[in-house]
Amino acid sequence: MNETRLETKKFSAVVEEVSSQPTAGKCLITEPLTSCTLIIVGASGDLTARKLIPALFELFLNNSLPNPFNIVGCSRTDLSGDDFRKKMKYACEHIPGQSPGDWQKFAENLYYRKVDYESPRSFSELAIYLRALNSEKNTGGNWIFYLAVPPSLYPKLSRMIGQAGLSREGREGNGWSRIVVEKPFGSDLDSALELDRILHTDFHEHQIFRIDHYLAKETVQNILMFRFANAIFEPIWNRSFIDYIGIIAAEQLGVEHRAGYYEQAGVLRDMFQNHMKQLLALIALEPPASFEADRVRDEKIKVFRAMKPFDVGKFDEELVLGQYGPGKIDGHHVSGYREEPGIAPDSLVPTFAMMRIFVDNWRWKGVPFYLVSGKRLARKVTKLVVQFKEVPHSLFQNVLGKHIIANRLTFGVYPEEEITLTFQTKSPGARVCLRTVTMDFTYKQGFEGPALEAYAKVLLDCILGDHMLFWRQDGVEQSWSFLSPILEECETCGNRGERLHPYASGSWGPKRAEKWMQLIL
Ligand code: NDP
Repeated sequence: MNETRLETKKFSAVVEEVSSQPTAGKCLITEPLTSCTLIIVGASGDLTARKLIPALFELFLNNSLPNPFNIVGCSRTDLSGDDFRKKMKYACEHIPGQSPGDWQKFAENLYYRKVDYESPRSFSELAIYLRALNSEKNTGGNWIFYLAVPPSLYPKLSRMIGQAGLSREGREGNGWSRIVVEKPFGSDLDSALELDRILHTDFHEHQIFRIDHYLAKETVQNILMFRFANAIFEPIWNRSFIDYIGIIAAEQLGVEHRAGYYEQAGVLRDMFQNHMKQLLALIALEPPASFEADRVRDEKIKVFRAMKPFDVGKFDEELVLGQYGPGKIDGHHVSGYREEPGIAPDSLVPTFAMMRIFVDNWRWKGVPFYLVSGKRLARKVTKLVVQFKEVPHSLFQNVLGKHIIANRLTFGVYPEEEITLTFQTKSPGARVCLRTVTMDFTYKQGFEGPALEAYAKVLLDCILGDHMLFWRQDGVEQSWSFLSPILEECETCGNRGERLHPYASGSWGPKRAEKWMQLIL
């Protein structure tokens, strides 16, 4: 192979606004926002401080919250309103674009209320408190209940909210009422069905918002725009031209403080039941008739249904599981999974998985989808790779050999939100040399103005009542139907330990996955 081919050069796409269609800065809101009160249950926790309140403050700074709008943090911890606001102020200090007085103004609508998750009385009192706040601030009796608590509490809290009369729309002084649940939605098909049954005791499907914040990332949303607002890619978006698809969500972080949750979930429930499947669906779905939540979600369901059931007899060909051991991340020694606080010293929970999936339909038959996710890997990176087939015949073979590197389209989600396309060009000079070049478009270079953080986008959509980025129950069930037999095989087979391949922290996963990993990285 001619070594000059390995040289990769980057060309940046020059982004010019060539039409009058709005760009990012003008794209935040398309319709008026209805006043409401957001009630965060579990507000003393990590998600609230790290994601939710910063996202809401960001929306406030972009003038993208309704007015009036209240935020009521609730949990069992004894906090005064001032304590809560102080804690949240600290959590928002890093947000750029703040002027003196902005926080003060935002915090005027930030409240805290202690609740007891076991006590119906506590929720009746919460209802009285919310109604009084609603009368004072005139938020239309519209409620969004965000359950930022461990998933085991969803059924109980949903019932408490319902029994306190806060889920019924258009009655008892209520306007609309919505409930937001975080992944995981159940731990298998049966528990997902049971959770759904309980949620539906008090809420209708249109009131339920099952969050997958991956879907709110700009590049992820852009996959549909890229595919269906450009005529040149769709004709080649199929088994005739695409060799394989790779989807990777690699983290450098370990299990952190979430040992209790992770020991139950492992990487398959944590990443594959939800985020990875959604990314796969966006790449694979057929064009919906219109860009409406249910039309798009209908097409995703068809992809889930077409996924070839996992062949237990070919376990090692279809799936590699791993668990991180000690190693080095950025030059610093880090512990192995089994030495992390709260993790069983003989834990068999996988922290890495690589899965090969086939979508058995006209478009994708025979095209492998490689899905990889893991903790404590060499770098944090999230991207989707569309690998095209090689040219059918190399007319340069007498000078360059037979092999010419095939085109690759990449949707980068992290560290850069970008789209890149690689192709071959001739290097300048008398010799015939090919060079792989990359044409790239990054959001940072491409657009000025505010780009919303994923949680800001999902919160905004929830306020707007737009379900586009949220899971529908039939999707959850399809996803579990695919994954449950895999989990059963992984968790009940006699040689569970042998199937769990160790890898050093800071590496790219188990040796066994190396061959597939090279296809994606
Ligand atoms: P936490 O573990 O921080 O819990 C949130 C709050 O719930 C706690 O502050 C505590 O409040 C209450 N709580 C915790 N454990 C129990 C328990 N056993 N019984 C009763 N109450 C309890 O969770 P996070 O904030 O990290 O996450 C909230 C939800 O969001 C979870 O479902 C999680 O899976 C999901 N999620 C979280 C992400 C993150 O980055 N943190 C990312 C994606 C999803 P108090 O005791 O004051 O009532």
